[in-house]
Amino acid sequence: MSKDKKHQDSNKQKKKEETSKLILLIILLVVLIAVTAILIIYQQKNKDKEDENVLAYTELIKEIQNKNVEEIEMTVGSTTLKVKLKEVEEEKKAIIPNTQVFMELIQNQALEGNEIKLTQKPQSILAQIPSYFFSLLPTAIMLALFIMIFKMQGLGEKGQVYEDTERSTKVTFEDIAGLDEEKEELKEIVEFLKQPKQFTEMGAKIPKGVLLYGKPGTGKTLIAKAIAGEANVPFISMSGSEFIEMFAGLGASRVRKLFDKARKLSPCIVFIDEIDAIGSRRTSNNGAETENNQTLNQLLVEMDGFSSEETIIVLAATNRPEMLDKALLRPGRFDRQITIPSPDIVGREEILKIHSRDKKLSEDVSLHSIAEDTAGFTGAELANILNESAIIATKKQHSAITSDDLDEAVKKVTVGLEKTSRKTSDKDKKLTAYHEAGHAIVSQFLPTQTAVKEVSIVPRGVAGGYTMYKSNEDKYFISRTEMEEKLVALLGGRAAEKLVLNDISTGASNDIEVATNIAKDMVTVYGMSDIIGPICLKDSEGNFEYQLLGNNMEDVVGQEVKKLIDTAYQKAQQILLQNMNLLHAIASELIAKEKINEEEFNKFFNM
Ligand code: ATP
Repeated sequence: MSKDKKHQDSNKQKKKEETSKLILLIILLVVLIAVTAILIIYQQKNKDKEDENVLAYTELIKEIQNKNVEEIEMTVGSTTLKVKLKEVEEEKKAIIPNTQVFMELIQNQALEGNEIKLTQKPQSILAQIPSYFFSLLPTAIMLALFIMIFKMQGLGEKGQVYEDTERSTKVTFEDIAGLDEEKEELKEIVEFLKQPKQFTEMGAKIPKGVLLYGKPGTGKTLIAKAIAGEANVPFISMSGSEFIEMFAGLGASRVRKLFDKARKLSPCIVFIDEIDAIGSRRTSNNGAETENNQTLNQLLVEMDGFSSEETIIVLAATNRPEMLDKALLRPGRFDRQITIPSPDIVGREEILKIHSRDKKLSEDVSLHSIAEDTAGFTGAELANILNESAIIATKKQHSAITSDDLDEAVKKVTVGLEKTSRKTSDKDKKLTAYHEAGHAIVSQFLPTQTAVKEVSIVPRGVAGGYTMYKSNEDKYFISRTEMEEKLVALLGGRAAEKLVLNDISTGASNDIEVATNIAKDMVTVYGMSDIIGPICLKDSEGNFEYQLLGNNMEDVVGQEVKKLIDTAYQKAQQILLQNMNLLHAIASELIAKEKINEEEFNKFFNM
């Protein structure tokens, strides 16, 4: 799991806990109100019962004067009496309007010889509970409501709930494979953090911000942690998307809190992942956009506010640098920008080595050949492949991870899980076999395309079958011929279906989508259309600027894309028509065996 994911997960956990506390409080409040209601109903019922047994004050006086009263029991501080009448079993209750006046009446009766036994009882604690309860109830409800409101605000407001702080990250540059130039550049930052004085005394200004650009999973978070680890300073991290949540106006306050904390822990690293979430270009719109602007403004204010004594270095990561507000890139803010590329073959092998440190690999495993097969993969994907291979090896009860387990893991990560249990009809099998054989044969005849590694008609992920090619060496440029031939190879599947089955299927939809995108880019981005010429028709945000060359440019682009696709489709059919025997033979072999490896495939070509 990536560190960022862990950070998000721990935040989610914290939010969950806060929410459950709030729910508990609401439940308590509901219980409190329910208990009160029950008590009121209970008391009312008791009262109704007692009413039947109550002696009116005038009747009581009469009974006393008629010498019918034997005993009276009074409770201190109460106007309710228990009255025992002569020759009546049941005790009666009476309420007196005034204790003082009543006492005088009894005394006068005693003087006249009407002896009434008068007892006085202290009030029982139990009897006092309801009255205490009712007098405290409003306060309790008010208190509970206050806590509830406070908690609800806290859910959004408490910055510390959202950021993660690691006093020492334990990650070092040793844990990062490849990226030698990038590490070299960042070593300077480590020096700044370790000995800021050395630089400031010389009059140098310590950089405040470093922006790391790179695809997801290329190791940006890892590098930021390694800088903190190497310099042995705290690492405070937060994701840009967490600044902008729930309550309006909180983004800015979270930024403030994040930097307050950083000031306390300085020297330290502040890492903001997905900075594009707050750092995207400011607009003058309302609502969420304004909230974004406030958060970004606060970030700029904080960064401008560091003094040279406060050694805080802000590292931020993004995979969409084109989205960022230019103000962020001004001197004194994120004035250093480092691109973190996907690893090359040497880097991939090193990453594989690092992540296989704690795994049992069998002797036949060659990390070099896996690195060869995984051009374009990021560090996170490579780490994932090794993890998947360990899971596959465990499931298959191997004593160590074999080369086959790793191959399977690569396929699982690239094409998806093999679906051996899915039942395929004979008709679909035939269609898939011709489709895949079409791809494989066509690409075999195209000089710029790489060799076929495996052809399969076993469903994997969402694909009904697949043709795997050997990986290309790391390339930085792709030629027009190579792109045109890629289109031919992509349309080989559809061409085979049409020629053999005289029908076409939905199986080619992904090929068509990929081919159309390549053709569009050739025409609009890479200037490979002779009619349009070397002109880029996409702006920096990826929108088409068709009007750039006049009103009918949209039509011209469409025609050029169509020409590329049509030519490629014709060429694919032509190659297959010239090799129909091969197409039938390979498709039959696929129907029989379901999978053909490189060697078996090459045999058809007498290689
Ligand atoms: P995101 O943009 O998704 O946040 P990221 O670029 O920050 O991704 P990390 O989270 O740093 O990527 O990388 C994910 C994982 O990939 C790391 O924890 C590490 O296991 C592995 N990894 C990536 N690059 C490297 C590398 N150069 N060396 C070793 N491991 C790497």
